[in-house]
Amino acid sequence: AESTGSDKTWVIAMDTVFRPFEYTDENGEFVGIDVDIIKAVAANQGFNIEIQSLGWDAAVTAVQAGQADALLAGASITKERKDSGWIFSDSYYDSYQVFAVKADSGIESLDDLKGKTIAVKNATAGANYAEELKDKYGFKIDTYEDSPTMYQAVVLGQADACVEDKPIMADNIKTGGLDLTIVESTASKVAPYGFAIMNEDNQELLDMFNKGLQEIKDNGTYEEILNKYLGE
Ligand code: GLN
Repeated sequence: AESTGSDKTWVIAMDTVFRPFEYTDENGEFVGIDVDIIKAVAANQGFNIEIQSLGWDAAVTAVQAGQADALLAGASITKERKDSGWIFSDSYYDSYQVFAVKADSGIESLDDLKGKTIAVKNATAGANYAEELKDKYGFKIDTYEDSPTMYQAVVLGQADACVEDKPIMADNIKTGGLDLTIVESTASKVAPYGFAIMNEDNQELLDMFNKGLQEIKDNGTYEEILNKYLGE
């Protein structure tokens, strides 16, 4: 029988290794800010979810193809994405893009990137930001599939810098003990994260997300989730 209303299970596509928003912890559990937020919102609004941890590119593709109903993966709300059919929820976290370099590289600003190789993660806001700056500052771009391999490229000296969302970078450097430094002077403008659908038929899901998000903000759950993963 066709499932309707509260029986429906909404498929939520996520990244794989994108801590602290989604990652597998030492117990093998898939956890993170996005995971806890969608579970709290679904419980609050009384809908069923199935989380699929696919990786950034694959998650976007799955939602575009209708194999998943929505994307929750620290997705930056951008005009280009809205123009290309992404329908975003209210924002749930403010983030921005920034470059990181090897601690002893001597790179202190965008001006020091001339002739350098910059690692980016495919089809991300960070990759776009690097594209916008590359001609002006004279650097070249190498594309990687996920965040950890992008960081490793810089650690191993295959790239001189990488660019990604600040909270992801800070967490990876800290928990991975990476010998990288964030260069704050290279920061982009703030771009908040949103939950996204790409098919208007899922408007009901987007509405429930927005309602639930407001409620978990009002009842303190949202703040608890942020504190759990980001500390004070
Ligand atoms: N915030 C970035 C973007 O939207 C990266 C998202 C991700 O890699 N999961 O492109």
